[in-house]
Amino acid sequence: MSGFFNQVSRRKFIVTAVASGSAVFLKGCLGNPPEPGGTSTTSSVQPVVNISPEQKPETTKAKLGYIPIVESAPLIIALEKGFFKKHGMSDVELSKQASWGSARDNVEIGSAGGGIDGGQWQMPMPHLITEGKITKGNKPIPMYVLAQLVTHGNAIAIANKHLGKGISLKLDTAKPLFAQLKASTPFTAAFTFPHVNQDLWIRYWLSASGIDPDTDVKLLTVPAAQTVANMKTGTMDAFSTGDPWPFRLVNDKIGFMAALTAEIWKNHPEEYFAMRGDWVDQNPKATKALLKGIMEAQQWLDNFNNRKEAAEILAAKKYFGLSSPAVLADPFQGKYDMGDGRKIDDKSMAAYYWKDGKGSVSYPYQSHDLWFITENVRWGFLPKDYIANGAAKAKELIKKVNREDIWKEAAKELGIPAADIPTNTSRGVEEFFDGVKFDPEKPEEYLKSLKIKKVSI
Ligand code: CA
Repeated sequence: MSGFFNQVSRRKFIVTAVASGSAVFLKGCLGNPPEPGGTSTTSSVQPVVNISPEQKPETTKAKLGYIPIVESAPLIIALEKGFFKKHGMSDVELSKQASWGSARDNVEIGSAGGGIDGGQWQMPMPHLITEGKITKGNKPIPMYVLAQLVTHGNAIAIANKHLGKGISLKLDTAKPLFAQLKASTPFTAAFTFPHVNQDLWIRYWLSASGIDPDTDVKLLTVPAAQTVANMKTGTMDAFSTGDPWPFRLVNDKIGFMAALTAEIWKNHPEEYFAMRGDWVDQNPKATKALLKGIMEAQQWLDNFNNRKEAAEILAAKKYFGLSSPAVLADPFQGKYDMGDGRKIDDKSMAAYYWKDGKGSVSYPYQSHDLWFITENVRWGFLPKDYIANGAAKAKELIKKVNREDIWKEAAKELGIPAADIPTNTSRGVEEFFDGVKFDPEKPEEYLKSLKIKKVSI
């Protein structure tokens, strides 16, 4: 199924800065400095391996940005449990980012300018930064996607004032409510950065039930903490982000969860580890050392016996700053109190970091990059020429940004069994909760099959 991906050559991609369309992206505060970051405080439990001269990293330093949600766990665990150090990366600094806009600004300037070398990203941020679509002056800054961090662990939360009105995974009985609100103050939903995961999850969920996210509701970018305040005061109806936020809303009796992303698309791609391309090109061995640390952290996290300890490490003030790790502990076991009487107790719905019900989580499938780009075309965020002619333009961009080849090299050096190293850059046909299928060989057909979309195709 990866035939087409493999045929696309890695020839130099000509990046064209497109001025039009970039203005709709909301920019974070420019020059927003990263918060002072964590270097490991817990005693390392991993012995430092005897690194061969061929694998010795060019540098021991890297500065990685993260957002305090469960997606960042592999980075934090790799630091705190000594997995980075084990592979020679003894000076990794994690830098908590105030917002996704700050993360984007900080990777633009790089660690040499006081920013970051890479870290955690929603998709397709690395592709949009590479294309200069969301950077200052539309400057293209090449980035490489190196691993997926996590699947699941995200939800769509709804303000409690809408309890009992039929807002759930499916919205059939809630449609009159949406129509009624549209006539006065439209249903308002927030995400933390436009055109990426959470925006796309809300849009998919609404449109699957026949609600047009561009005309029937109001969608906007709001920082997580502000959204919670707005939900309390009743000015915000919905919010999508990663744990622990959705369950915190339930716990604090501010909202309930309409849907887990695990219900919208089981074993879906979520957030990724990506670095500046120039950093990777200068430090190929250090890149693989970082990947090895992350892969070991992901395996450690998928041992459910470690999840109590993981919740305690993540809840600490310098990371998520939670009053109690309990708010993470249940979701980590696949236990979700949805807040509307619905309870999920199913381990297959928990966040997974290394392997899930479909195979590798950590390996960055190029077919998933293509879905994120196809959704950007669907909603008019990217021009449709990305998807025309068998998606040649999208696939060429993906081939340049998605460095699954480096993931595989690192996995082999780490001694990962061959059975856990995918041989295909495509995970194949994907299926969503509404029965819609995405065949990565035919993204144009997928767009044609969708009733609600902005692009005319
Ligand atoms: Ca997320």
